[in-house]
Amino acid sequence: MKNIVVQKFGGTSVRNLECMKQVLNNVRRPLAEGSKVIVVLSAMAGETNRLLALAKEWSATPDAAELDSLVSTGEQISVALFAMMAKDQGLRARSLLGFQIPIVSNASYGKARIESIDGARITEMLKDNDVLVVAGFQGVNEHARITTLGRGGSDTSAVAVAAALDARMCEIYTDVPGVFTTDPNMCADAKKIDRISYDEMLEMASMGAKVLQIRSVEFAKKYNVTVHVRSTFSDEPGTIVTQEDANMEAVQVAGVAYDKDQAQITLVGVLDEPGVCASVFTPIAERKILVDMIVQNPSREGRTDITFTVPRADLDQTLKLMEGLMPEIGYKALLSDKSVSKVSVIGVGMRNHSGVAAQAFRALRDENINILMISTSEIKLSCLIEDKYTELAVRTLHQTFLGQYQVG
Ligand code: ADP
Ligand code: ASP
Ligand code: MG
Repeated sequence: MKNIVVQKFGGTSVRNLECMKQVLNNVRRPLAEGSKVIVVLSAMAGETNRLLALAKEWSATPDAAELDSLVSTGEQISVALFAMMAKDQGLRARSLLGFQIPIVSNASYGKARIESIDGARITEMLKDNDVLVVAGFQGVNEHARITTLGRGGSDTSAVAVAAALDARMCEIYTDVPGVFTTDPNMCADAKKIDRISYDEMLEMASMGAKVLQIRSVEFAKKYNVTVHVRSTFSDEPGTIVTQEDANMEAVQVAGVAYDKDQAQITLVGVLDEPGVCASVFTPIAERKILVDMIVQNPSREGRTDITFTVPRADLDQTLKLMEGLMPEIGYKALLSDKSVSKVSVIGVGMRNHSGVAAQAFRALRDENINILMISTSEIKLSCLIEDKYTELAVRTLHQTFLGQYQVG
């Protein structure tokens, strides 16, 4: 393990000069202990959204490669400004964009996956520098074009760099003091979790807890990187994301998550014969659209209904695909609904505790919240509901399972 610390700071942590000064204070801590520091920065808060809106003004269907070239500039601004400031303070520092390292990704613009990082190049540059300021969210593909890693992708940049360098620690600094039992900005009773397993964090992130990007947790688990999620604006310890231990099993439910970015599609009366599901889901998968929940009803008179969910942003494209399939699979109607959301309870302890589902259903019933779809895994239960009930559902599930939660 090398004496290198990777620190990632999100958009709210670099939103202005004052905040960047606070970032610099955090960088000084490992420097004082004799470590070298890789600082991974996001774009200033709101900048990525601004750039995406700008692209929409110019083009209804912006070219994917040019769009990545545009939105990646937010991070370029952050790293240049921060490196400037660090140098003024006498630190040996420089900025680095994805292509300068390089952080090589595949060619999927807008949701690229990191394929390799030249750790040796970074180590070489650390001879002349104590702080390297790396632009998060971006990579370069084999065609020498800039790619971006999906919203929240700077988390993944940081964990991947930590893995490539065998760094001693990867700290993710954000605007909340750690990972909470649910979104602290939605539920005042949310409690900070001291330690959480990779698998629970993966489910929390997958179910909508955007405090860490899903892929960053996948990377951390795969390369066994310990991640410390904490606040830029306080010294208190945050949440350690790490391998599961016996204490974690003792807690039945670790957290409650929600995802408002959901849309539901129903194919009414499709022929109930072999190959129909394959015909429906193959073209969706080919476009890299993530289908989450799927329900197929029992057959009646040789026909069935198939209902499934996709990210809201992919609804129009998925509906077009389904319209194109009409002659092949012969459904009677195509329905869709954008006003749905998903609430989930997550915990490795669910493996050994029965009754979590029934308890969750009773809690939702008591608030008169109707369940549209259900999906489960070994350590998670999700319910699709009308999105106007999201906050109420999160609060009631949190109260049911975590109302008595003791920190530590
Ligand atoms: P950054 O810009 O630092 O990357 P994000 O906005 O991506 O920050 O993520 C932090 C936000 O994640 C918090 O402000 C909080 O509203 C939200 N969040 C959702 N679920 C959770 C959770 N379980 N614990 C902590 N934060 C959560
Ligand atoms: N700036 C990018 C975003 O807003 C990446 C990140 O913040 O992690 O999604
Ligand atoms: Mg983020």
